[in-house]
Amino acid sequence: MDKFQALKHYFGYDHFREGQELLIDSILAGRDALGIMPTGSGKSLCFQIPALMMEGITLVISPLISLMKDQVTTLNQAGIHAAYLNSSLTASQYYKALSYAREGRYPIIYVAPERLVTDEFLDFALNTNISMVAVDEAHCVSQWGQDFRPSYLKIVDFINKLPKRPVISAFTATATKEVREDVIDILMLQEPAVVSTGYDRPNLYLGVQSPKDKYATLKNYVERHPDQCGIIYCLTRKLVEEVCDRLNQEGFSATRYHAGLRDEERRKNQDDFIYDRSRIMVATNAFGMGIDKSNVRFVLHYNMPKNLESYYQEVGRCSRDGEPGECILLYSGQDVVTNQMFIDNNQDNQELDPVTSRMVTERDRERLRKMTFYAFTNECLRDYILRYFGEYGENYCGNCSNCLSRFETVDVTDIANKLLECVKTSKQRYGTAVIIDTVHGANTAKIRNYRMNENPHYGCLAKVPAYKLRQVMNHLFLNDWMAVTNDEYAIVKLTDKSGEILEEGASVIMKMAREQEPAEKEKRGK
Ligand code: ADP
Ligand code: ZN
Repeated sequence: MDKFQALKHYFGYDHFREGQELLIDSILAGRDALGIMPTGSGKSLCFQIPALMMEGITLVISPLISLMKDQVTTLNQAGIHAAYLNSSLTASQYYKALSYAREGRYPIIYVAPERLVTDEFLDFALNTNISMVAVDEAHCVSQWGQDFRPSYLKIVDFINKLPKRPVISAFTATATKEVREDVIDILMLQEPAVVSTGYDRPNLYLGVQSPKDKYATLKNYVERHPDQCGIIYCLTRKLVEEVCDRLNQEGFSATRYHAGLRDEERRKNQDDFIYDRSRIMVATNAFGMGIDKSNVRFVLHYNMPKNLESYYQEVGRCSRDGEPGECILLYSGQDVVTNQMFIDNNQDNQELDPVTSRMVTERDRERLRKMTFYAFTNECLRDYILRYFGEYGENYCGNCSNCLSRFETVDVTDIANKLLECVKTSKQRYGTAVIIDTVHGANTAKIRNYRMNENPHYGCLAKVPAYKLRQVMNHLFLNDWMAVTNDEYAIVKLTDKSGEILEEGASVIMKMAREQEPAEKEKRGK
């Protein structure tokens, strides 16, 4: 059977999708492979088809029991013998599965990374012909990845113990350069074929709003889309409960999902959503990995997530069938504070050594900052995301709230100069709020305490509204003309590029919303 026959016979599809063939061909030629493809693009087939065509067994390493179960069930339904080995099995089930595996019944075996280096499993693996190790959700090996799993580091130990090195393939939806390099280095991929397919999802409308009343905005949205399924992501379990209860009380069909619920309820609620018994899923980021529901038409973020990796993964669950869908972020300043708190109290980090832990924290802060800029930028949102993931976008997509809003182009060179001067003359010691209050001439105890009322620039921009000053500052940050320190103090600093404005007289032109303060304004939907 060739790969096309396998595709048709087992999966019922006629054509490969972008990237699939290349990955399959490399693996079949015995070459390591790394597939970087967005969620829903069909990564599983890339290792399943070669697994069925190669001699010997393919081990698939996967971080989540639910993911393994789903995939094994799907394979079994397609008439493929596959099994999983993880902690959801009783001891006797586990040994039975292992003994079937020894008999060579399964071409594909899913295994949790923790199992790999156990004695029983090693005993099996060392006496079997393992032709491929496929690492799913491979970004989990990276400490810089959003879901770092220490147990993923065991994969290499395991591979090194094998008598013959199998082909290693790795798959992830996280495209950043650091994660890509980490996956290659840590899994020790040998000259892998790297296939990275496009991140752009042109069918998704991207929007940012900063409503005063998030719930009212949300309710209004679900009212206006009565026939559509959607996911509402909240940052905390408590908010999930609140939003879900309120929606239900008001007669919407909503269910909930977060890690604090019992397994049965989680499973039931998830199924209710997948099988359209509940139209709206209100969830924390615990919901979604491995969910294959193609008609999710909106993904609303009740809070801003901690980074763009999470955000794009979550919105990636919208309209997987390619039909139009809408993804709207409801931003508020409090979201930044909450995320900051999560970052500072990250339990996982406390298991790391202090140096690494500090680096991870700094990195997370930097990511949060980039996410926050997304909420503030007046440029094309899609372009912003694609550039973040290292792809070239166009600066106009025509399907995001910025491309569809009317902005005016404003020369803010004078404001930019004064802000930078104020930072400079106050010796780069203060945060954004103090700088803005100073040039704005605020008469507060804090300003007097810092003696910023004696700064030569005190009150020099008194007539410019504070929101506009904030926008200009954000524009300066976005363009590296100014930076903030990567610690809890977030002190504003000059950068190598500040001189372009301060000394070389560069003009600063930016797009600004017309009328009122963006926080008051609800950016228009589609
Ligand atoms: P990922 O792991 O990249 O998130 P999956 O492997 O779960 O994505 O695939 C997503 C969906 O796309 C699945 O329903 C899968 O059957 C389907 N799919 C994969 N490859 C193809 C293809 N070549 N043609 C049509 N559908 C496909
Ligand atoms: Zn756009």
